[in-house]
Amino acid sequence: MKTLIVIDMQTDFIDGALGTKEAVKIVPNVVKKIKAYVKNGDRVIFTQDTHKKNYMKTREGKYLPVPHCIKGEKGWEIPEKIRNAADADALVICKPAFGYNGWKNVLKGESDSVELIGLCTDICVVSNALSIKNLFPERDVKVDCACCAGVTPASHDAALLTMKMCQIDLLHEGKEPWRKA
Ligand SMILES: [Zn+2]
Repeated sequence: MKTLIVIDMQTDFIDGALGTKEAVKIVPNVVKKIKAYVKNGDRVIFTQDTHKKNYMKTREGKYLPVPHCIKGEKGWEIPEKIRNAADADALVICKPAFGYNGWKNVLKGESDSVELIGLCTDICVVSNALSIKNLFPERDVKVDCACCAGVTPASHDAALLTMKMCQIDLLHEGKEPWRKA
């Protein structure tokens, strides 16, 4: 079985508090990718960046003073067209930090590939891709560039280069839908 991890495809990162035009443009690719995994009987996992109302008092809030992904608010939600592309019983992980400490358990026993897509390439996608690569050095870990966007195109590219150097396979490199003017 293959596993697709859809990182933080939440309203605040698409077109909400921290949205970007690049993030908006990857949505159709993300939906298509999720549907392809479902059709093949493979596994889809979502993550959600999850903060409390005290966000501005947290360390992340000091570096990034823009409240976002407050649990229960609209910006925290995964838009229906994305969430509903997967089965209702797909695992959804609420994570309070960029990465997630539970991958060892969640992915154990899965012998095939792990593919990551979503937002933002340069923060949460790279954090989780490197964690998983380190936990499972013999597993095929890949990132689909055409289903990712960064805080900026330049930091997206920098994160992809870092992942490539760490032997994470990049799919559709240079084919990001937002690269065309
Ligand atoms: Zn956050």
